[in-house]
Amino acid sequence: MSLSLYVDHGRFEKHLREVVGRYPGLVPVAKGNGYGLTNSRLAMEAQRFGADTLAIGTYEELEQVSGLFTGSLLVLTPWRPFGASAGATGNPRLVHTVSRLADLQALLAADPTVRIVLERMTSMRRHGLSARSLRTAAEMLAQHRDATLEGVTFHFPLAHGGGHLPELHALVTDVVASGLKTRTLWVSHLGDAELVAVRSSYPDFTFRPRIGTGLWLGDRGALAVKAHVLDVHPLERAVPYGYRGRSMPRRGHLLVVSGGTAHGIGLEAPAGDLSLRSRAATMARGSLDAAGLVKSPYVVDGKQRFFAEPPHMQSSMLWLPDDARAPEVGDEVELRVRYTTTSFDRTVLS
Ligand SMILES: *Cc1c(COP(=O)(O)O)cnc(C)c1O
Repeated sequence: MSLSLYVDHGRFEKHLREVVGRYPGLVPVAKGNGYGLTNSRLAMEAQRFGADTLAIGTYEELEQVSGLFTGSLLVLTPWRPFGASAGATGNPRLVHTVSRLADLQALLAADPTVRIVLERMTSMRRHGLSARSLRTAAEMLAQHRDATLEGVTFHFPLAHGGGHLPELHALVTDVVASGLKTRTLWVSHLGDAELVAVRSSYPDFTFRPRIGTGLWLGDRGALAVKAHVLDVHPLERAVPYGYRGRSMPRRGHLLVVSGGTAHGIGLEAPAGDLSLRSRAATMARGSLDAAGLVKSPYVVDGKQRFFAEPPHMQSSMLWLPDDARAPEVGDEVELRVRYTTTSFDRTVLS
């Protein structure tokens, strides 16, 4: 009765080893729903491939990984003097991200031996220090010799037209000019060619690429998502069904499958073209779009099928036209989901 994530574990780990080999200094990222795999599983994998540091999203996620991964834990959300981060000082395995001078001051006061990375603002404009603040931070750290500066971090937007190199050169120049006593740069979303380029431009710097998606989800063929078929009902045309008493213009089958809004099913925009013009065209052909149906992520008898009505909390009703072969109760059907927004009832390793 489940929405299941199947992992071909041999293939998955082979891909992890390949990525780890390709990116020296790689920092695996485990956050949110663990890219669909859970943070605890990612922590175990990172431990197995020998990462020295695991990046996590928030202080709240610490307990999901700290017993499974024995290395350093870099928290990506910058430290703030409130919320879960406020109480998280004094742990020698933690590396805090610091993006404001006031927070640096508070952290150094709370724990003189604190380990930190300083975040420099990028074109993301999310968090980070200005070039001038980096210089001030260097002066503050010079007064606190027991604190460890683990590096400076840049978080880039996803690759855009011109690439990140011009911005990266300017940011590295800021780090050099700041007088900070570090030559380690933590980076995200740099392309392979960009990493090669910056490594050769700055041979005295160590670059540590933080990677989540490309690591855990880089080989989609190692993963499959399947849902159980819970019920199959033949349905005559014009017979009402569902919460809304809808009916279909043709006969077929109503399928009830595992997976609903609680799993994150149906939260995405449908893949189909729902513009007015295409609606008018399909209406003219008397097709099912005209009945106001939305494409579901479930694949049955080789095709992505329509939701018969909006997904329920833990199951969904699908419409299967009578020219398609109906599955049996207990069968599993495949679906295409976005891993970062889907929660699975179980993960099956094979
Ligand atoms: C999520 C995140 C990453 C990893 O991003 P992916 O696109 O999943 O590789 C890297 N750095 C920071 C700061 C992040 O928040």
